[in-house]
Amino acid sequence: MVRTQIASRGIRDQRVLDAMSRIPRHHFVSGVRTFEAYGDFPLSIGHGQTISQPYMVALMTEELHLRGEERVLEIGTGSGYQTALLAELAQIVYTVELIPALTKRTQKLLNELGYANVVYRIGDGSEGWDKHGPYDRILVAAAAPTIPRPLTTQLADNGILVIPVGDSRHYQILLVVRRIGNRFDTRESISCRFVPLVQKHSAY
Ligand code: SAH
Repeated sequence: MVRTQIASRGIRDQRVLDAMSRIPRHHFVSGVRTFEAYGDFPLSIGHGQTISQPYMVALMTEELHLRGEERVLEIGTGSGYQTALLAELAQIVYTVELIPALTKRTQKLLNELGYANVVYRIGDGSEGWDKHGPYDRILVAAAAPTIPRPLTTQLADNGILVIPVGDSRHYQILLVVRRIGNRFDTRESISCRFVPLVQKHSAY
């Protein structure tokens, strides 16, 4: 998977490639044959949600430029696959999920797999998680029409936010936002397709 879908498409961060080689993706999906868990596509994780395509997980993670010291906020815990990758590459991961059953399942799995640097919350991630901010990195795994304001507020100076933005059913683009003081430098990465971020807050 790492060689044919990820390195071959230009992901160069060796720490990302190594960590994805280690994480047993088939533990994060159920009801499919083991090899299908490593396929080049998203898969259902129940509750109308999906585990992201491996390449998308790799790209979003590479965009965060993690070195191991960072405090990371993740919105959309889902299966916990992305959470595990962040936990391998950063110091601590705060992860927020709206659907309690997903948090429960993921927390159990990540505990079994030995990830001790993850803090879980059930709630609306479009409000961020003010209590533990500011965050060096924020990764959002569901698409919003615009960037929820609390997320930029909770991003540390020099921090990076990765978020898919756009109409939930049609066009979405992955945005990479770097905060420099009170300026937010925004770059468009690739087009993508995520489940919608259920949210109260919108606008920059
Ligand atoms: N990274 C996950 C992606 C799961 S799909 C994985 O690869 O498994 C996106 C997740 O975002 C879903 O689990 C969905 O329930 C969750 N979600 C949607 N809106 C949310 C919100 N406002 N706050 C927190 N989680 C949300």
